[in-house]
Amino acid sequence: MVDAPTASEAGEETEGSRAKAHVEVEAVTRVYPAVAGNPPVHALGPVSLTLRQGEFFSVVGPSGCGKSTLLDVIAGLAAPSEGSVRFEGQAVAGKVPDGIGVVFQEDASFPWLTVYDNVAFGLRRQRMPRGEVAARVDYAIDFMGLTDFARAYPAQLSGGMRQRVCIARTLVLKPRLLLLDEPFGALDQQTRLLMGDEVLRLWRETGATIMLITHALDEAAMLSDRVGVMSSRPGRFIEVLETRWPKDRDSRIVSEETFGRLTSRLWSLLREESLAAIGATGGAISRSAGERTP
Ligand code: ADP
Ligand code: MG
Repeated sequence: MVDAPTASEAGEETEGSRAKAHVEVEAVTRVYPAVAGNPPVHALGPVSLTLRQGEFFSVVGPSGCGKSTLLDVIAGLAAPSEGSVRFEGQAVAGKVPDGIGVVFQEDASFPWLTVYDNVAFGLRRQRMPRGEVAARVDYAIDFMGLTDFARAYPAQLSGGMRQRVCIARTLVLKPRLLLLDEPFGALDQQTRLLMGDEVLRLWRETGATIMLITHALDEAAMLSDRVGVMSSRPGRFIEVLETRWPKDRDSRIVSEETFGRLTSRLWSLLREESLAAIGATGGAISRSAGERTP
């Protein structure tokens, strides 16, 4: 049996979760400067968040609330306007630290390289010895179920397969923190659930800390130890839900009662924020939704 989900403040240590801090985000804001007559955009924060060593943390929030901005700041791809980020105790600044791997939504594979060469690309660039490259690439390709496609080109693969290639490319770098920005956003529902299982398997096997950004509440509820819910822009955490799933979970938990409770809690938190994000006042829609409530 799985306990009912509980809420806590972002980053607050709760009972039974005294794992080491892996990432510390402190009072981070990001404001995009004014360009070409457009005013500056306050995209994010202030946000404070601690990712625990080895946890699976998902971030959900309305479109445009600053989720990708948060990921970019944690990855060192963008600098915070205020505040600081530490990864394994070291300040993140200016470049992606060793040990952090990032996977984006868009298919980032190189179309002119085979699956094998795509996966080997980053290691070869590091001038890693050939034997080590081969061992790591073979492992990652096998792990992602791509062995039969090692000599294929991305164009010959389905969208789900190409996303596996992108994950394999990151996996060979042995990341200790994996940042995933809506990696399954372009996939159909069934493929998405199965890819979720793959990511859980990868998480257990590597022991990496994972932060997943997703717009799919079911995905967040199914995969995560904790789900951070963000407000509309400028994004802040309005709640962090603890799922208390067992570590060996898989997509079959979608049939559990707790799963339904988690997703409806996430949706009720996000509903107003999403309305705000699309510029609706919420009044008329809230009322008509309220009338349907038994
Ligand atoms: P999300 O990933 O949650 O959809 P983003 O982090 O991509 O949101 O963007 C947050 C806000 O910042 C959005 O309103 C977006 O339009 C704005 N934004 C993103 N990148 C830039 C940029 N380079 N310059 C100006 N505004 C930006
Ligand atoms: Mg985004």
